[in-house]
Amino acid sequence: MKPKIWLSSPHMGGNEQKYINEAFQENWIAPLGPNVSGFEDDIKEYLDNGVDNGFEVAALSSGTAALHLALILLGVERGDEVICQSMTFAASANPIVYLGATPVFIDSEKDTLNLSPEFLEEAIKDRLEKGKKPKAIIAVHLYGMPYKVDEINEIAARYEIPVIEDSAEALGSSYKGHKCGTFGDFSILSFNGNKIITTSGGGALVCKSKEYKKKTVFLATQARDAAPHYQHSEIGYNYRLSNICAGIGRGQMEVLDERVKLRRKMHTFYKEIFANISDVNVHNEPGNDYFCNHWLTVVRFNDKSATFSREGLRLHLEKENIESRPLWKPMHMQPVFKDAPFYGEKEAENLFDEGLCLPSGSNLGNEDQRRIAASIKQYFNKGIL
Ligand SMILES: *Cc1c(COP(=O)(O)O)cnc(C)c1O
Repeated sequence: MKPKIWLSSPHMGGNEQKYINEAFQENWIAPLGPNVSGFEDDIKEYLDNGVDNGFEVAALSSGTAALHLALILLGVERGDEVICQSMTFAASANPIVYLGATPVFIDSEKDTLNLSPEFLEEAIKDRLEKGKKPKAIIAVHLYGMPYKVDEINEIAARYEIPVIEDSAEALGSSYKGHKCGTFGDFSILSFNGNKIITTSGGGALVCKSKEYKKKTVFLATQARDAAPHYQHSEIGYNYRLSNICAGIGRGQMEVLDERVKLRRKMHTFYKEIFANISDVNVHNEPGNDYFCNHWLTVVRFNDKSATFSREGLRLHLEKENIESRPLWKPMHMQPVFKDAPFYGEKEAENLFDEGLCLPSGSNLGNEDQRRIAASIKQYFNKGIL
């Protein structure tokens, strides 16, 4: 069997070990220490992009934890409703349910595959009519592609509903020159093992003020009041990032831009392969306002009745020990969310039928690329014979 080619696997830069060793030398084997604050500073500087925007970054144990805390900071409680993009990973929606609130799912639009502004507004109007104002909007930059930031923010501002920007897949992407991770009232990042950079597991909450960061760290460290004994007047969580994992993060931040370049190169590699295959479109930025890190390259089959299909290609690649995957199964189609309201038509559903994520890791070498290209070409040549 040829070695497995993964969709997206960790890619260390080299200095991660150095930061971990420092932590060991100083005995900072804890969910606090110089790597945690160093990593937070690195992320802040990266998001600031040369201009101090006053953002504050709290390093946490996961992106899911960051979403959970963002919802708490926005006051989401039992019985509330929170709007969420349907086409996403379950982690975007689960924290709504942790709080006893109800997710209201929204369809995607064609250009970015993300939250449809049209159905977002329809949903807000309808929920208001039914007597409940949604507490927050969770919008996701899927596969690194920025959502329609201006349109979504305009609607959110008009109805005075805060936005939680799920930028778990979009570190390194930008919109109109500003980095993804800076557009929400709160923004979340993930450093899970499959993301563009990783701390093995980790995440961050980007806040717009020092007070919110302070509150985030307070909640993430068991909500201990200022007292010599253990005193609590609020429920807390154990959500801080470990100083060891943060050390990996510092090393990874040094190579982030390089990783984005390599992922974008993989996207170009696929554009060339599919250039002459009319049944398949490679998902691209819809215009110059968008800069995508291409965390994963997505292709969409546009002719269901033809000889070729998403599943056909996926199974063909699987036989060659090459991993590929359908896009996220929309949340409104998930058994666990079957009772949640949904606004939209069939865009997300069709994307789930027609879309495929291809191996996109920044560590795919020439031999891997040769195997992938040969495999894809073989699949499409077969149909013609
Ligand atoms: C990975 C991911 C998350 C969750 O991040 P974790 O660090 O794995 O908890 C949330 N939203 C999206 C869109 C993701 O891809």
